[in-house]
Order: sequence, then C-alpha cells, then structure tokens
Amino acid sequence: MSETEGAHPDPDCIFCKIIAGELPGEILAEDDHTVSFMDINPANPGHALVIPRAHSKDLLDISDADLAACTLAARRLARRMGETIAPDGFNVLNCCGAAAWQTVFHFHLHVVPRNQDDPLELPWIPRPGDPGEIKATADTIRGEG
Ligand code: 5GP
Ligand code: ZN
Repeated sequence: MSETEGAHPDPDCIFCKIIAGELPGEILAEDDHTVSFMDINPANPGHALVIPRAHSKDLLDISDADLAACTLAARRLARRMGETIAPDGFNVLNCCGAAAWQTVFHFHLHVVPRNQDDPLELPWIPRPGDPGEIKATADTIRGEG
C-alpha cells in the first residue's frame, strides 16, 4: 500500500470539499496526487495554492510522496505562470502550525507570483543574530546541546 492510500477526506475540511467539488474553486491544474487552485484572498494577482488530494494537516503530517508531488506541481504551476502572466519571480510558501500563520489545516503550498514593484514585504527584519545563540540553537537541533 502506498503512503497516501487509506487517507480519507476530512468532512470538515474546506480544501477536501474543493477537491470533492462540494465547494467552488478556480482550479488551475490537477494530477493523480495534487490539485492547484486560486486563493480567494490573493496576496498578489495569480496567488494560488497546491494541495495533496489526500488530507494531511501540515508539513509534519504529509507523506513523502505527496510532499514531493506538491513540490513538483508548484514548480509546474510557477513555470505555467511564467509563460502566461509572466511575473518577475515567485514565493513558494508553507505555513506549518497556527503560530506560523496556518489557518487551513490541509497541507498547502502557496505559489505567489512576485513583481519588482509589488507591495509585499518580508515579514521579518533581517539583522545579524548573536553567533553564540545561533551555535547553541544549532547544537540543540543537532542533539549536541
Ligand atoms: P494558510 O494561512 O493556512 O497558510 O493559508 C490558507 C489560505 O487558504 C489563505 O491564503 C486563504 O486565503 C485561502 N483560503 C481560505 N479559504 C478558502 C476557500 O474557501 N477557497 C480558496 N480558494 N482559498 C481559501
Ligand atoms: Zn482536507
């Protein structure tokens, strides 16, 4: 059995309902494992979402196969947008967990077309970190703390 077989739609999940055709969605592309559609609150023109057909709640939950399929679908979509609406670049973004801005708990990649003069801003202010803190955190993540 593959990693995604056995995953059932979540009856309360709006993205599962879009996949099932129970809620409207401006579908852009589909394959055996993924569906891509327009975001209803676009950050920029063309803002789209790529989701796995099988319900998984977030980056930590999704199967390797579905994550790979979503990533490849996001790149296909970006290439398609490059040929059609021709933005200057893209952000591909995932929010994992409510603390990280996730609001819909069916894994999704945002594909956000970007233009040189668009109004989007980095959500953090880049400034040098404390090298000791960076190393200490790295040690903890590596299990060396
Ligand atoms: P998150 O905040 O979880 O990373 O992103 C969820 C995204 O889903 C948001 O950008 C939001 O605009 C979009 N969204 C929420 N509800 C719907 C819906 O019913 N249809 C579509 N197409 N997008 C939705
Ligand atoms: Zn779902």
